[in-house]
Amino acid sequence: MDLTNAQLLRCPVCGGGMRVNANTLSCERGHAFDVAKEGYVNLLRSGKSGDRIGDDKLSARCRRDFLNKGYYKPLQEYLRSLFSQRHGSVLDICCGEGYYTSALAENENLQVYGFDISREMVRLAAKRGGAACFVANLASIPVADRSFDYAVHLFAPFQEAEFSRILKDSGHLYTVVPGSHHLYGLKQRLYETPYVNDEKLPETNCLKLLSKTKLSADITLTSQEDIDAVFRMTPYYFHTSAMDKEKLKCINTLETKIEFVIGEYGKQ
Ligand SMILES: [Zn+2]
Repeated sequence: MDLTNAQLLRCPVCGGGMRVNANTLSCERGHAFDVAKEGYVNLLRSGKSGDRIGDDKLSARCRRDFLNKGYYKPLQEYLRSLFSQRHGSVLDICCGEGYYTSALAENENLQVYGFDISREMVRLAAKRGGAACFVANLASIPVADRSFDYAVHLFAPFQEAEFSRILKDSGHLYTVVPGSHHLYGLKQRLYETPYVNDEKLPETNCLKLLSKTKLSADITLTSQEDIDAVFRMTPYYFHTSAMDKEKLKCINTLETKIEFVIGEYGKQ
């Protein structure tokens, strides 16, 4: 689907329904937003938006190029098959450059929406096709109350009240967090005493945890560039000393486990 039938979007200014006319998405009160040539729309209320508060262009492209190599395909396949027999609407919360979003959209029975705070990420997601993509803030998602059958949420902050608001009463949220041994092979190269992740799914009062699934795979990164790219995608990149970072510069292959925990939540 694309923005022309994205009926679940709401005006970020007044909350009214939105319609596409030519290259403009607008509400009844006349608040209007340009549709970019790639087919996405920026619904952030502050005009300054985008890449200063989100990921910049270079990191968005690095991430896309890395994901396109298929190292995280096990997670993409898991999500594709999880949704393969389903129908209805799904919102990819903090969709990034659309690697997982576009896989969901292969199912023609799903109306897939995706948003991210970074305009460059959303631009790349829109180019992959299949979903209605928009730039927005996680704290105030411009979609109707109780409108989505499903939401997916990978490696992003948890906003329980907002997630609960956008889901139908029968709706389900799938949230993905790193597993205990995610990228453990990378950590073994970097640190004297590598630690395991605590693997905790978010605790919430608005939603209830229905099930928990663990997904593991072993991958081999086959170039310096790929090792660097995966390292930059981790939160610990910024907390690692320059001396420890040097340790990765002399290796061209790296075997590591990737591991994810998928929590399925329903409304209370
Ligand atoms: Zn409006």
